[in-house]
Amino acid sequence: MYDYEQLKKTVNTLPHQVIGQSVLHRNLYLLRVGKGSRRILLHAAHHGLEQITTEVLMRFYFECVDGIQNRDPLFLELADRLTLDFVPMVNPDGVELVLHGLSGEHPYYYDLKEMLKGQRPSEVWQANIRSVDLNHNYDAGFERSKALLEAQGVTAPGPTRYPGPFPESEPESHALAELTRQQDYHMTLSFHAQGEVIYYGYLNYAPPDAEGIGQKLADAAGYTLEKAEGIVALGGYKDWYTKAFRRCGYTVEVGRGKNPLPASDLSDIYRKIRPMLLMLSACQSTDK
Ligand SMILES: [Zn+2]
Repeated sequence: MYDYEQLKKTVNTLPHQVIGQSVLHRNLYLLRVGKGSRRILLHAAHHGLEQITTEVLMRFYFECVDGIQNRDPLFLELADRLTLDFVPMVNPDGVELVLHGLSGEHPYYYDLKEMLKGQRPSEVWQANIRSVDLNHNYDAGFERSKALLEAQGVTAPGPTRYPGPFPESEPESHALAELTRQQDYHMTLSFHAQGEVIYYGYLNYAPPDAEGIGQKLADAAGYTLEKAEGIVALGGYKDWYTKAFRRCGYTVEVGRGKNPLPASDLSDIYRKIRPMLLMLSACQSTDK
């Protein structure tokens, strides 16, 4: 299983880039597959309780690498058409807190203890280590999102949903946004858990082909496709990407159950997600 140390060990044996660092100076890694002109970003584990999404992306990454090495026509075609960038763990500090708990040695011990109010990190922790929910920290209706969250009682830093003082205030969200601006991706997929649903769009806007492509992806996985509304259309990476680039960004909520989903769900999740990922080389959006 990939906790941060295992991911680091694995990634260090592979060609990779470091796109930034977390609050606690853990590396944010990027792995690349393919040399195609169509560039797609896949990223996972914005949320502490959703480490299973890292497993999904790493499994697909290695399947691609092996497929290319074995000259499997499916993967050769994929690598020819696409450049796939994987950022498998956007929030390593949050994932580590969930997987390994809060020890007295933790540099944020007293802050976290106060935030947790007696709950265990493995039950509730979605945020980064400064108690900001990274997937509410993007510049897409930020003030509106903040007001909506305040109305729901989210008024201060905590284990989940606090959007932060301003968009991209956190090094993790800023690094991912910077990467996106630099690479000018044609499409992005944000992996979260859970619900077996794919969201697209920002407020009332969606790129013309977002529904059609989204439906193909959803059908391949046996998931449902939903136009994001309310709080799921505000402040998240997908919302910001859709708003800023007017291209297809999707949030893919893998699996079904209560977070954190058990590791034993991984095979079933991957069996459904794999055809969706393989379909990416056939999805041609019209904007480029
Ligand atoms: Zn999530």
